[in-house]
Amino acid sequence: MNTFTVVTILTQDGAQITEHQMVGEPLAPGLAITPAVHTGGFTGGWTVTHTASGWSVTRSNVCLPCLRRAAQTLVNADVDWTRNRDTVIADPNAVMASEDFTDLARDCSGTDCVAGLIEAGF
Ligand SMILES: [Zn+2]
Repeated sequence: MNTFTVVTILTQDGAQITEHQMVGEPLAPGLAITPAVHTGGFTGGWTVTHTASGWSVTRSNVCLPCLRRAAQTLVNADVDWTRNRDTVIADPNAVMASEDFTDLARDCSGTDCVAGLIEAGF
């Protein structure tokens, strides 16, 4: 059973970057599942946040079942996600894992996702 943690996430609106305190579920060292937000509030979807920087490492309108499935590529990647953002971005394994996530979550339609409901057993 996971415990929850508080994650500082960042949103960007033009040049304005804003910090938000958000509940997160630890996914792997350096990564947490958090609600997806934009400047106006929740999107209804979920994302994986790089906890050291507060930036999302995945597309951010994914339903939770699809995110949990696709996020295994991040968990299993040979990447130290606890490093700072610039170092992670420069790591080809991190880039590949993020691209794999995008591929795996490609069919997710976010808050209306039928694939996610099936994945969750409904
Ligand atoms: Zn989905």
